[in-house]
Formats: sequence, structure tokens, C-alpha cells
Amino acid sequence: MIGTYREMLQGEDWMTEATREKAIEKLDSIQIHAVYPDYWYDYSDLSLDGLSYWDCVEAVKDFQTRRDRGRTNQEVNPQEWGVNILETNAYYNPQDNSVNILLGILGDEFYRDDMTEEEMLGGIGVVIGHEISHAFDTAGAQFDKDGNLANWWTEEDLAAFAERADRLIAYYDTIIPFEGYTVPGRNVQGEAIADMGGVKCMLAIAAEDPDFDYDSFFRQFATIWRRLSTYEYEVDCLTQDPHPLHFLRTNATLQQFEEFYETYDIQPGDGMYLAPEKRVAVW
Ligand SMILES: [Zn+2]
Repeated sequence: MIGTYREMLQGEDWMTEATREKAIEKLDSIQIHAVYPDYWYDYSDLSLDGLSYWDCVEAVKDFQTRRDRGRTNQEVNPQEWGVNILETNAYYNPQDNSVNILLGILGDEFYRDDMTEEEMLGGIGVVIGHEISHAFDTAGAQFDKDGNLANWWTEEDLAAFAERADRLIAYYDTIIPFEGYTVPGRNVQGEAIADMGGVKCMLAIAAEDPDFDYDSFFRQFATIWRRLSTYEYEVDCLTQDPHPLHFLRTNATLQQFEEFYETYDIQPGDGMYLAPEKRVAVW
């Protein structure tokens, strides 16, 4: 996947060679934290013998607070992930340039042993591609390969990047998910850039397989973002969540890719049709 992403960066003709080299250097420096850490916290000094449930919770919290306090002015241990690996989540951490894929996301519709290649790419594949893309979204791109807030872009490339992001923001601003509301493009730009970058990377992998089943891939992608929801919850997400609404994570993302139009024979005038010059993927 990193190799395919490298080819993607090499194919971006709006960047100069100087910035591209830095981007590839950053890509190659990404640390992959997969499933569970090699370093585990030592709880051997914590005794819960004979305690009630409530007292156990208190004791664990107290133990963790003392451990955290002990880190003050100490060196950072890069082996420490500091997260609950049972969460259904994956994330990019710009401060150590790491992609984190937790144990909790490696099940159900994201990843199963019995999945086809198309289902894996449409499930966990796009998620991993999404997290890699966060290294190059409008926030992540401000951090260098070592996780320091330091500019590695030429002025010219940074302006071109901002212009591309502004087009994406302007497009999301036009979407009306419910009457009386539009999508705040600026709030969702990072996640939208990452969604599109992740799918683009998977489609580049797909292109190497002449028998690739695009319908199955797109269906799996739509499946991971389906959810039962209420109007009130969606309105809350629309105004508070940096991710686009789930149905837009599917629809607005797939509108950017020719493979989607070809698979379902989408033509001008169809509801999801977006003319090539109006497509807004930053990467
Ligand atoms: Zn994200």
C-alpha cells in the first residue's frame, strides 16, 4: 500500500520535485502501528484483591494517574501507543507520523478472513489508505516526517495545495443534506481529503488486477459507512463532527472516480454525476 501511495505521489503533476521528494520521505517514514503494541503497561504493582467493582475502577484510575504524572519531564517512549486497542478505530497521529490500526477495527465489515480481495480493499483497505492520507491533508501536511510542526512545502506548492483544498471545501459547501442545512466544507476538509485519498490508493491497487470486481469493492465501501441514525443525530454530526456525514463519505467520495462512473454506467443528468472538471479530490 505504501508503494502504491508512493506511485500516487509521483503522479501528482501539480507539485514540484522538491516538495514531492519531501512528501515521499514523509510517506516512507510513516510508522505502522498494527493490532497491538509490543510494549505493554506493567500493572503488576496494582492489586485489586477483595475490592468492590467501584473500588477497582477507582484503583485503576488512580494507578493510571500516578503513571501519567510520572512521565512529567521524562523522555517520550515511542513504543507506547496510549490508546485502548479494543476500540473500533484507526487513526493517524501527526505528532509521531504513525498510522494506527487497532485490534478493535479488525472484524465484521472491515476485515474478516473469508473476505475476497475486493471486500478487503473496500473495507480495511480504504481505512488504512484514509489514515495514510491524513499525513497529507491540510492539517497533517503541516507536520514533517518526524512529527514536528515544520513546513516542508515550497511556497508555490503550498499555494497550489491550498487552492485544491479550497475547491473541495467549496464543493462540500454546496451540498444540502437536509432542508435548511449545507455541509460546512471547511470543517470536513481533512476527513474528506483522506476519504478520497484512501479510495484513490485502493483503486490504484485494483488497476493491477484485470479481473477486479469493482461492484463488490464499491458495495463494501458503502457497507462500512452505512448506519442507522436519527435526524437529530445527523444534524448534530453535521455541525460538530469533522467527518462528512456517513452517506456523504460514500457518495461524495465515489463521485470523484472514473471507475465508479464506468461500473454503474453513470451519465450526465444522473443524480451522482459530477462533470470531470468539477471533481475535487486533492490527491
Ligand atoms: Zn480520518
